[in-house]
Order: sequence, then C-alpha cells, then structure tokens
Amino acid sequence: MAQDHPVYGRIDGPVVMIGFGSIGKGTWPLIERHFEYDADQFVVIEPDARQANFLRQHKIRHLQIALTPENHREVLGELFRGGKGFCVNLSVDTSSLDLMRVCRELGVLYIDTVVEPWAGFYFDTRDNAARTNYALRESVRAEKLAQPGGPTAVSCCGANPGMVSWFVKEALMTLARDTGREQAPPTDRAGWARLMQSLGVKGVHIAERDTQARRKPRPRGVFVNTWSVEGFISEGFQPAELGWGTHETWFPDNGHRHDTGCKAGIWLDRPGAITRVHTWCPTPGPQFGFLVTHNEAISIADYYTVGEADAPAFRPTCHYAYHPSDDAVLSLHEMFGSGRQQTSHHILDADEIVEGIDELGVLLYGHEKNALWYGSRLSNEEAKELAPFQNATGLQVTSAVLAGMVWALENPEAGIVETDEMDHARCLHVQRPYLGPVEAHYTDWTPLQDRWEHFPEDIDESDPWQFRNVLAT
Ligand code: NAD
Repeated sequence: MAQDHPVYGRIDGPVVMIGFGSIGKGTWPLIERHFEYDADQFVVIEPDARQANFLRQHKIRHLQIALTPENHREVLGELFRGGKGFCVNLSVDTSSLDLMRVCRELGVLYIDTVVEPWAGFYFDTRDNAARTNYALRESVRAEKLAQPGGPTAVSCCGANPGMVSWFVKEALMTLARDTGREQAPPTDRAGWARLMQSLGVKGVHIAERDTQARRKPRPRGVFVNTWSVEGFISEGFQPAELGWGTHETWFPDNGHRHDTGCKAGIWLDRPGAITRVHTWCPTPGPQFGFLVTHNEAISIADYYTVGEADAPAFRPTCHYAYHPSDDAVLSLHEMFGSGRQQTSHHILDADEIVEGIDELGVLLYGHEKNALWYGSRLSNEEAKELAPFQNATGLQVTSAVLAGMVWALENPEAGIVETDEMDHARCLHVQRPYLGPVEAHYTDWTPLQDRWEHFPEDIDESDPWQFRNVLAT
C-alpha cells in the first residue's frame, strides 16, 4: 500500500527514541511506515520495565535506563558513534537542551515535543519566574543564538506546541481570503507578522476540547488523562503564562513581566491548571478552558511581533485554553482540592475509549469577522483506523512528530528551529492524512457573552477581546 503510506526518505544511521510512553509508542509505527531505515538500528531508551514486553514482542532493541545529566553524553555518544542518525526525544524528566546539544555536536538530527528539563526542575525550583516555559524556551533560544546553523534540531514539534503553529498560518490565509485580501503566503517571519497585524487579529487561543471518554467511571485517587499524566501535572503546576498582546489595556494584579529575553510573554502567580479562561470550540461552543502554560503561547506571540521587542508596534495575545477530557478535569479538581498529587496514573487507551474526539485548533479573534477557529476534530474511532497504539490525542501529536522528522530530513542543516519557522504547508501536507476533519469555523461569540446577569463582573465592555474579559473570575 505504498500509495497510502508514502515513504518520505531514508534515515542513515541509528534511530534512537528516548521515552516509550503514550507518544513514543504511537510514533514508532509512523516511523516504520514512512521512512526507510535499518530496523536493527532502531533503539528505545526507556527506564520503565512495563514497556519491555511490548518492545521485545516487536523485536525493538531496548536500553532500560534513565538518561541523567551524568550519563546522557556517554549513552548517546556510544549509540551515535558513526555521526549519523536521528534522535527522537519523547520522554519526560530529560533536558531537551542538553540532549539536542549533544546530538548537534555528534552531527545527528534531533526532534522533541516540549522543552523538557531534567527531573526536579518543576517542583524544586523556588522562583516562579524561573519555573516558566518562558525561561525554558529562552534557554533554547540562547543556544540557537550562540550556535547558529548546523545540524537540524526541531524544538517543540508535537500537536501543541507544534502543529498549532502551522494552523495559525493556515487560519491567516483563510481569513485573508474570506475578507477579500487573498495573497500568496508570506515568505518570512516579518511578512507573516505583518499579515496578522493587517488582518486586525488581536490574539490567538489554542482552543482545545477533548471529549474522549471510557465507560468506566474514574476511580477516586487516580489521575486519568489522554496523554502523559506526569507531563500534564508538571505543566499544570507551572505558573499560568501567556503571550501579551499590544491591544491589552489592563494588567492582571498577579501578573509579572520578564526583564530579559524576547519579552513576548507574562506569567501569573497562580498555577495554570486552576486558572480558567472563557473560550470557544466548535463542539461545545462557549466553554471554560484552563490557562495551562505552553511553549507556543510565547513562541507565537514572539514570531508575530512587529517592531522592537521592548516596544512593539503589534503583538498578539496568545495562550492555551484547554478543556481536557472530563476524567482529567475531575483528576485536576481532586488534586488541587486535596493538595496532593495522585500516585496512581492512567492514560486512556484507544481501545477502552468508547466515544469522543480531540478538537484542537487555533481561535484567531478580534478581527472584522470576529473569531475564526481552525483545527483538527479527530475522533478516537477514526484515529484507531488510521494508526495503531494511540488515541486521537496521541495521533495529533505523533503525526506532527512525523511531519517534523520529514522536514528535518529535507532540511538537515537548519540549526535549532521552532515550528513557527518551518514550512507549514509541507508539514501539514505530511500530517493531514492523520488529522481527521480539519475545519475552519467562524463564530460571533465573544467572552462578553458568557456572563450571569445576577452577578455583575469587572469587565471591559469597550473591547470584548481584552484579556480582562477572557480571564474567568
Ligand atoms: P509518558 O509519561 O506516557 O511517557 C514518558 C516516558 O518517558 C515514560 O515512559 C518514562 O518512563 C520515560 N522517561 C522518564 N524518565 C526518563 C529518563 N530519564 N530517560 C528516558 N526516558 C525517561 O508521556 P507521553 O504522553 O508519551 O509524552 C511524552 C512527552 O511528550 C512528554 O514530555 C510530554 O509533555 C510531551 N507531549 C507533547 C505534546 C505536544 O503536543 N507538544 C503532547 C503530548 C505529550
């Protein structure tokens, strides 16, 4: 079925996957389908013994070790002795920056889905500003500025961060067309930023609703999610963060700016997973989302900045507005309510999910057509038909990893790149067969509409799209 599953290229040397959790397990079959490589040289580094059976059954070489600050250089150096190959980092508790640095020194291609720190960072760092994704992204940005060019390392190429940056560009082209300003896609960052500015976009929600559910009710004391529980708890406890747009006239009392770096974002002195925002997705219409910090909230605000970092002529507000699966919402409620992290974790398997979709898109707001949601509405049922070993959430992530790997193979000397900087059309071309319905929806909803008349709030009616109105009190 070569026609159904195009082979995009050959990977010479080892393919080393770090972490074989929900995303690693789903990415492996896509790599197998879409690349030529020497199967004997496919290696998984995974400390968890529970994955050993699966890996053995599928004849995948398994190094059952945890990478650490002390051993990663030696382990990767040994595996990539020949100075060729691809490192696919899909783990938690490993430093993306350190791993990409070693890979680039070795001449090896690299991809990850998040700027992950070594174990301990999320809960042992005392200073909240230092615990932000802004700080993590700045560490990679500093490396990119200090070591420009060289072997390609794709930073943060999952669904979000990742695919949603490609959706922003598709949404801008759609909006340009639908407002009579059709044009060829811009060819550089400044062009894209000017396009967003000229279309009157004030901001972007990464607006997601996950309705996947299983038949069994969530047992008390178990954190249930549709992807990494560890990953979600870590980011949920980081301070809420957002790219801070030039149209904002109000500043939150608990808000903080950064003194150094790109200056595109601010953080709030409150965990993201209990900070609610008003948002909108096609299935529910208006809904609450959680303002969980994400790399793309900063990278998108930075990428679309017009003018100087300190005093921009234009910058969009940008943040995640995430309604995870209902079981995950209950898990968060239980965790923050009790002040204790559940020690029992469960990631919903594609086969136990009986209904639901992951609706993940970008909501571009504040322009002459009010708001446009553009994204993937992939059901678990369809995901199961498209690829094995993953639910809908997983497939949106793993297919983005696939697209990023194709792009890296085709652009092997691009240095450290973020998904905003990649060829979005090429990447979406590769990814789209795995995304289910990809749709554009206009809405006349604004955050001023979700109000209870008996309880007046401190809002700004002169501009519906002020963050002051989006933030739920
Ligand atoms: P998971 O928790 O299911 O799996 C993570 C794996 O990493 C585990 O199997 C764990 O044993 C392994 N691991 C832990 N410590 C390690 C170490 N020191 N060395 C090597 N491996 C180690 O998580 P997942 O759902 O597969 O997600 C994987 C990564 O992808 C996470 O960092 C997550 O935040 C990220 N992610 C990104 C997106 C996106 O859209 N950008 C979406 C989902 C997940």
